[in-house]
Amino acid sequence: MQSRFQGGAAFVRGAFVPIAEASISPLDWAFTRSDAVYDVVHVFEDGFYRLADHLDRFAVSMRTRRLAPPESRAQIEAILHRCVALTGLSDSYVAMVALRGRPRIPGSRKIEDCDNHFMAYAVPWIDVIPKDVQARGAHLWIATKPRVPDASVDPTVKNYQWSDFTSGLFEAQDNGFDSAIVCDDAGFVTEGPGFNVFIVKDGQVRTPDRGSLHGITRKSVLELCGMLGIPAAIAPVRRDELEDADEVFLATTAGGVMPAARINGTILGNDRPGPVSLRIKDAYWQQHRDGTHRTDVIRDA
Ligand code: PLP
Repeated sequence: MQSRFQGGAAFVRGAFVPIAEASISPLDWAFTRSDAVYDVVHVFEDGFYRLADHLDRFAVSMRTRRLAPPESRAQIEAILHRCVALTGLSDSYVAMVALRGRPRIPGSRKIEDCDNHFMAYAVPWIDVIPKDVQARGAHLWIATKPRVPDASVDPTVKNYQWSDFTSGLFEAQDNGFDSAIVCDDAGFVTEGPGFNVFIVKDGQVRTPDRGSLHGITRKSVLELCGMLGIPAAIAPVRRDELEDADEVFLATTAGGVMPAARINGTILGNDRPGPVSLRIKDAYWQQHRDGTHRTDVIRDA
């Protein structure tokens, strides 16, 4: 039984299936209109990290986009446990998605004609920046296309509107970079494809106050800075400040704290992860080993 789920387990339309068998309708507005919200939590050595924070944010995302699948929070939580348990994985990337669904009346444009539904899956751990790249320091491209305005697509609602990020990734790959950072049309740094951005300047840490998801890893970083006595703030970061930073690092569930070494043509420090970034990265993983913010995976769920 377990081996069917080794590559990942999904919950779709009320059933648990191997990840390769999970599917949604081509008529689902989640697909045709990116009309969905999601969240991703990770499991480290058999424990979820900050599960309640992810469930809280997911609830706000659903409310904001008027998505109301039938599952309660307790049921969603139980489904996440079960997905992980089915895979047998100790370290896992666990996603929860609320989808608009397809209209009961073909061609309807009425939101209320769609039955919202909930989907979840657990797959083996993912690093959005591969571990070897994290070790040498990521090379980051500043995208030429601006981030979609916050007033149009609320970046604090975790969503699949990734056109601007994907364009940034095209450019990064075309130019031999590992990933991209996207600025808004006023020249302020926002975030990148799947991560928040931090700069370190004169010993102070700063992360953008706009255009970005309120990352749970970002929250951990800010708390850890407080514990480590490193001044840190959520405040505007201009593009030139990014290029002039002493250090830059990225933060996300799927990878943790990920130092950079280059921004466009600029080499940061000695072309390797900087000392402040590494201190925060170490503290972040130490929290995991200590079991801080941990919820044990229920294996017999
Ligand atoms: N920004 C974007 C666009 C993301 O997709 C993500 C995570 O996937 C993040 C930031 C980081 O958020 P978190 O730390 O909660 O994973």
